[in-house]
Amino acid sequence: MSADLTELYQQVILDHNKRPRNRGKLPTANRVAHGDNPTCGDQCSVYLRLETVLGQPDRIAEISFDGSGCAISQASASLMTTQVKGKTAPEVQALYKSFHEIVTTGNAPEEISDLAAFAGVHAFPARIKCATLGWHAAIEALKSDPLVTPTTTETHHD
Ligand code: ZN
Repeated sequence: MSADLTELYQQVILDHNKRPRNRGKLPTANRVAHGDNPTCGDQCSVYLRLETVLGQPDRIAEISFDGSGCAISQASASLMTTQVKGKTAPEVQALYKSFHEIVTTGNAPEEISDLAAFAGVHAFPARIKCATLGWHAAIEALKSDPLVTPTTTETHHD
């Protein structure tokens, strides 16, 4: 990988850390899961709304995350939400498999773009859990039972 690409990938992490995507509670969520990484102090909740999209059941129609912790954990959760939207649970599992490969080996397949930003994590094994925290929470949320009540009864005035 050229130095320029390394720089570019680091920019992806910095950008997601500075401007997290899909951050905050999702009032319309019908699945939720929480993950934490005590070794680093990272927290991440993932909110999903699964629905039938174009005749295909159980697609992620909306997703958000909320949490706190190190830059790697929060940027990774932010990027994850942008990558899994519109996908089904098996598709998310397949993507996570690629991402896990990237963060544990540093090798990124050609077709994987932004996720390769985390390839540098493989040199810091203690940080792998930071990078995968949001993904674990998303996969747990996909497996979880549907919420009976909305995640929040608050009224938002944005
Ligand atoms: Zn961390």
